[in-house]
Amino acid sequence: MARVLIVAEHDGQSLNPSTARCVSCARSFEASAIDIAVLSGDGGAVAAQAAALAGVTGVIRVDHPANEFALAAVAAPQIRDLAADYTHVFGPSTTFGKDLMPRVAALMGVGQLSDIMSAESAYRFKRPIYAGNAILTVEAPADRTVVATVRTASYQAAEATGEAEIRKRSMDTELPDHTRFIELRSDTGNGRPDLQTGARVVSGGRALGSKENFEIIYRLADTLGAAVGASRAAVDSGYAGNDMQVGQTGKIIAPDLYIAVGISGAIQHLTGIKDAGMIVAINIDAEAPLFEVADIGLAADLFTAVPELIEALGG
Ligand code: FAD
Repeated sequence: MARVLIVAEHDGQSLNPSTARCVSCARSFEASAIDIAVLSGDGGAVAAQAAALAGVTGVIRVDHPANEFALAAVAAPQIRDLAADYTHVFGPSTTFGKDLMPRVAALMGVGQLSDIMSAESAYRFKRPIYAGNAILTVEAPADRTVVATVRTASYQAAEATGEAEIRKRSMDTELPDHTRFIELRSDTGNGRPDLQTGARVVSGGRALGSKENFEIIYRLADTLGAAVGASRAAVDSGYAGNDMQVGQTGKIIAPDLYIAVGISGAIQHLTGIKDAGMIVAINIDAEAPLFEVADIGLAADLFTAVPELIEALGG
């Protein structure tokens, strides 16, 4: 029977919802054990949140000063050691998971399976290729540990109705000294929700024309309590930070509400919002491709429509 270890993504205090989505993936093929590894400086709060997820059988809490800030190079050998008791090791397909899981796979001498979007069994999975235009069914060998990332946009978060046991484990892995934490900086900070897990996202495109004009996107997002994203054209033009890019080569997201402002709707952008709930498009060109997938479309100049919208929303 499959025994799944999920690596928790967290900020030291809160468990990122991506972890609960990985749990849903593991539950979908009826694993006999679903344990969550919480690597942290002091993982009490995060471990409690992980233990509350439905379907979780246990939480392994590894507290160590080296784990205070998430560093893939430091976490990977620890996960390799914990993985000895498991048939599967999962992480989310977020920036965190994409950084960590290939290192875990390499240390274990196996290939990494990327972006699981559904499981037919414990060893047969579906994953998107060609920017989501084709779906591949892959079978992993059952005699090796399956190291994989889970496409978080494909799964609902497991609900918090569980009560799993939390086990403390000492850290006795030899850690590399070539990588150390210096500082954490984020362009999208300012207390805004995380782009990859936020329920609402407002994104701006090339039409904004400048970094200064992009402020209007932040204002709309703040009025709605939304995270901020951007098209690649906006990122490449320097209007928005790299970590804000939504799409094939950016972030794949599944918010309940996605508002695209001045974004044409290129296939590479649409790949990132396939699983969004309601899509709203504001574009001056009524023929823009984004209108084909939008639930609500407003053919208007963003520099008129967005301030009006902010005012109407009381921002
Ligand atoms: P444009 O396509 O230039 O669209 C701007 C839109 O703004 C137009 O529709 C225009 O009508 C509208 N507009 C102009 N003025 C106004 C106004 N005043 N008010 C309202 N609307 C206005 N793109 C991504 O976004 N994410 C990715 O991850 C990504 N990955 C890529 C990977 C590869 C390998 C390649 C080749 C491309 C990738 N791209 C990606 C780029 C993608 O093909 C498009 O070039 C990009 O998405 C276009 O961004 P945009 O919609 O902001 O700009």
